[in-house]
Amino acid sequence: MIHGGISRDEHTGAVSIPIHHASTFKQDGVGNFVYEYARTGNPTRHALEELIKDIEGGFKGYAFGSGMAAISAVMNLFKSGDHVILTDDVYGGSYRLMTKVLTKYNIEVSFVDTSNLAVVEAAIKENTKAIYIETPTNPLLKITDLKSISKLTRSHNLLMIVDNTFSTPYWQNPIEFGADIVLHSATKYLGGHSDVVAGLVVVNSESLATDLHFIQNSIGAILGPQDSWLLIRGIKTLAIRMEEIEENAKKVAKFLVEHSHVSKVYYPGFETHQGHSVHKIQARGFGGMISFDVGSNHKAEEVLKKVKYFTLAESLGAVESLISLPAKMTHASIPRERRLELGITDGLIRISVGLEDVEDLIEDLHFALAK
Ligand SMILES: *Cc1c(COP(=O)(O)O)cnc(C)c1O
Repeated sequence: MIHGGISRDEHTGAVSIPIHHASTFKQDGVGNFVYEYARTGNPTRHALEELIKDIEGGFKGYAFGSGMAAISAVMNLFKSGDHVILTDDVYGGSYRLMTKVLTKYNIEVSFVDTSNLAVVEAAIKENTKAIYIETPTNPLLKITDLKSISKLTRSHNLLMIVDNTFSTPYWQNPIEFGADIVLHSATKYLGGHSDVVAGLVVVNSESLATDLHFIQNSIGAILGPQDSWLLIRGIKTLAIRMEEIEENAKKVAKFLVEHSHVSKVYYPGFETHQGHSVHKIQARGFGGMISFDVGSNHKAEEVLKKVKYFTLAESLGAVESLISLPAKMTHASIPRERRLELGITDGLIRISVGLEDVEDLIEDLHFALAK
């Protein structure tokens, strides 16, 4: 994370990669250049792309203007008539892209419980081209077994795509378990400071790299040099942030599960959490996301009003702890019936544990939950 990618400037020795605000580059004779035009390639963006490739252990990396731009670019690998199987509680924006935009191009999608291998296998059709996984999921932190899915994708000649936003490459490297494509909303933990919107993709073969770079250059949804630099800077402290968040989250989860006003706590670090043993095999840590149920929308909104250190906001993965109400915020676009089917109740609160003193965070929740 600190020495990966291109970590210094070869001309000046600067230990921080320069921000190249150049849209075009002088050619030494026609066609003789390293960089041509900044949509196709920019040195600062390239340094970030090399870095994410290194820390995910893939073949090539690509940086986009947002997580959704990255996901859209990956979905551009498919054509009309293709079918893709996805985790049923994928990120809301991904659900919207698949159901409201890609369907216009006749790309077929099925949402299934990917933690159940038999269900995934049954969903494979003649035109299926890929399985798209999130593990842990949002907000219920459901776990999918990456190795089993990769056996399935290998034997059916499908692409395996993993959105690794929640675990980050610090805790989980899906390529190690057979993924062909790993993607991130780098807006979250990789950036880590709530100050940049970005997406990253790592592919694990030369042919996918050629295809994805062609798409990136064609649709143009690239990340700018300033934001690329911010991400490089964020990634330098990813390890220490993830370790500290892990410690904080464990203590907050323990406090919540022992609280009499909390009926259910979702946290992959609990041995009782569904998929805990699978997660332990494929990941080195449990992350900073916790969801818990306080019983009703009214009670949940009271808690959200009373907290002082948890900031009421969408997003996650930042230095500051964030709190949200999935049913009315991130998952509001999903019909209530479907939400309840998935287990996203009206009283479900999601927190993203940050780097504050954990005693302060627990005290904050203690007062907010008291009445
Ligand atoms: C936020 C998020 C996205 C979308 O990323 P943006 O950077 O907001 O476009 C995709 N997947 C997951 C899991 C996310 O949390």
